[in-house]
Amino acid sequence: MESKTRRKLLQSLTVLPFLTTGAGAQSPEIETFRRNAVEGWRKRINAFRERYILPIIDTEATYNSAINLDSMRESMDRLGVAQICFAPFAGLGSHASYNLYERYPEHFIPTTADGSSPHWYHNTEQFAETTRQDLASGKYFLMGEFEIRHYPSHQQVLAGRLDRDITIPLVDPGLLAIFAIAEKTGIALQLHYEIEDALLPGFETLLARFPLAKVIWCHLGQVRYAERNTRYGSDYVAGLIKRFPNLHFDLGLAGPTHQHPGSRQRDQMIYAETRIPPWGGYLRNNWRDLLETYPERFLAASDIDASRWQNFTSQIERLRMLILDRLTPQCRQLVAYQNAWRLITGEPYDVWRNAGKL
Ligand SMILES: [Zn+2]
Repeated sequence: MESKTRRKLLQSLTVLPFLTTGAGAQSPEIETFRRNAVEGWRKRINAFRERYILPIIDTEATYNSAINLDSMRESMDRLGVAQICFAPFAGLGSHASYNLYERYPEHFIPTTADGSSPHWYHNTEQFAETTRQDLASGKYFLMGEFEIRHYPSHQQVLAGRLDRDITIPLVDPGLLAIFAIAEKTGIALQLHYEIEDALLPGFETLLARFPLAKVIWCHLGQVRYAERNTRYGSDYVAGLIKRFPNLHFDLGLAGPTHQHPGSRQRDQMIYAETRIPPWGGYLRNNWRDLLETYPERFLAASDIDASRWQNFTSQIERLRMLILDRLTPQCRQLVAYQNAWRLITGEPYDVWRNAGKL
């Protein structure tokens, strides 16, 4: 099919999360549960809006039992974070996220277990099957982050956790199964994939193979080894956005001065470094222009986990000051919560048409 026509067709195929899935999804109980969940989240979003606070939906965060929920909810209320999509550490199972929702239904969005531990990368097919079953229950609205190519994080390098250098082949049956599940269910899928010249062509092939999968490529512009990337930048991301109508990016990032201890390089290319407090830098104009040009493709995220959850306040404050505050009102609202809302609930942007400007 001629590519422009094909793109148009794909854009017109709105797969609402879960409405296309198996029998469990259609049961009245599940439909009622999902409707009530969405109304609770809408209520909390509107409560912030009524106080002229721009609400945020944090789409990328890993839950572990070390995280203090009372403290998290207090932070969310104070920082204007309406909801967190807490993907549990896989050892806890997806139901840990559902349990958070049961306890605090307006704060948390049930998200399937995070693919960032050996449960995933040592047994991808089993993990994919478990994820499929979890989604078939009708209880989940988003799929946690799956690592495909992953360098050890800051804390992991410092702790000598070089076992966290992960490569899942792009033809891996478990990985392909995850993409197929994303296509079938319409539930968005979060991915971790390092940015390097040698890795990009294969990733593009994978995206082209599953055009209906709603993919969130986590950590926009996080490059661990600059010498391994000559292609990726704001123009390259714009090119991907034009080619792949269901591709999104999240802003779960460290700050402008952050150095990855593995490469000893500054690893956040969307920021220029000034070292001026409080954040030590600013959002580069070409990246701000990218967000303004394609405002429907970017999502707010904190990227907290068991070792970083106490940074939640600074993650959210930095996101607001360095990124959201620099955007036009319409773009700011899309990135802060409306894009996440569309992916999670399947509702069109029109539901926020009269939401006014924040
Ligand atoms: Zn990640």
